[in-house]
Amino acid sequence: MKKPSILILGAGYGGLMTAVRLQNMLGQGEADITLVNKHDYHYQTTLLHEIAAGTGEERRICLPIQNVIDSRRVRFIKDTVVEIREKERQVFLCHNEPIQYDYLVVALGFEPATFGIPGIAEHALAIRSLNAAKQIRNHLETRVAELATAASTGDPLTIVIGGAGFTGIEFIGELVDQVPHWCAKYRVTRERVRVICVEAGPGLLPGFQPSLAAYARRSLEARGVAFYFNTRICSVDERGVSLEGKDGGKRIEPATVIWTGGVQGNRLACGATFEAVRGRIPVTPDLRMSGQDRVFVIGDCASYTSPGAERPFPPTAQIAVLQAITCARNLQILVRGGKKLEPFAPKLKGAIASLGARDGVGLVMGLSLRGKLAILFKEIVDSRYLFMLGGIRLALQKSKLGGGEVE
Ligand code: FAD
Repeated sequence: MKKPSILILGAGYGGLMTAVRLQNMLGQGEADITLVNKHDYHYQTTLLHEIAAGTGEERRICLPIQNVIDSRRVRFIKDTVVEIREKERQVFLCHNEPIQYDYLVVALGFEPATFGIPGIAEHALAIRSLNAAKQIRNHLETRVAELATAASTGDPLTIVIGGAGFTGIEFIGELVDQVPHWCAKYRVTRERVRVICVEAGPGLLPGFQPSLAAYARRSLEARGVAFYFNTRICSVDERGVSLEGKDGGKRIEPATVIWTGGVQGNRLACGATFEAVRGRIPVTPDLRMSGQDRVFVIGDCASYTSPGAERPFPPTAQIAVLQAITCARNLQILVRGGKKLEPFAPKLKGAIASLGARDGVGLVMGLSLRGKLAILFKEIVDSRYLFMLGGIRLALQKSKLGGGEVE
């Protein structure tokens, strides 16, 4: 009998963890497993804000996919997915032949959601991938360097961050750690670099306890960040940004705009191939698309609301990894001829937002954390992920706790 083929698209948190689990859970003769990803390395999206601000090292957040994949069990193809044809059960790639599948796992991650705001897609920068994060770092450092040759009475550099959610706040925390170093390097006074966060809602870090959000605000304001709450970005152009708030309209020019106002699932799957609701594909409790018994969708592309809940789970790495575990288990059941799949019922541990290298806030198993303790817990979470992916060696090599000195 022909072995069933499993095709996994995307080697981020969801896709790579699914592949690693399956290679351990299925025997060699049980299924053909193929993993496709744009690059031959995996990067930790949760640390991209460090790359964008220039505080993190690329080698720390990236790892070669071949280091965690057993090539006897999983065939890895470095290529870009260009089309999914679900009726023909085929996926088209940029450079390789189309691939046929019996079971598909869509784990293609996110793209920025612009909510139709004019100019965001064209003129704002967004932390959407490793390469985009590196571009942001280069752009910002170049702008600071240019201040050194401009008249000291000229325009300051104004960096406007759109969105005070998780990503925006973590990025700002790193940025205000980094700006003094760039200023010292190019002999520019710190006052000539302004960091402004614009948020449509009434406060930062929605979903966090008010006391933790207030702590985060104080921490960032003390390092020079100005917050404009209840203020919307109306448009962005090559010169700057137009705002609208309770105090009327406002223009900031010149300005460099970094958009962190929201994400949606990768357009290639969400909307183009499969029907999406608010940019993500609704899935059933076993993480398959309704009416599509052979298609699993996980991570930022998927939208799942557990019974009794009002909202879907947020797009986080924590959810993507837990979904990968359920998805791999369900694929194992299907490959072995089972019919009863497991529902996705995660036990969430909490959330931690960093505010730079030495400060953070979080709620972990009912405990409110602030300062270095929050950062320590974040590093433990990160090490645990690396351990699940590649064992103790990878955790020691790549995590900040491990320090990287392993032969
Ligand atoms: P990803 O991890 O983004 O992986 C998608 C993969 O698909 C990538 O490897 C990509 O290269 C590949 N891909 C995309 N398109 C194609 C294509 N056409 N062909 C082939 N391959 C393709 N979550 C948390 O839980 N905690 C945090 O602290 C946290 N911090 C964050 C900080 C930042 C700056 C950002 C941006 C996000 C953060 N998140 C955090 C959210 C988290 O990173 C995402 O929810 C998580 O990465 C989703 O996993 P995924 O597998 O769906 O997608």
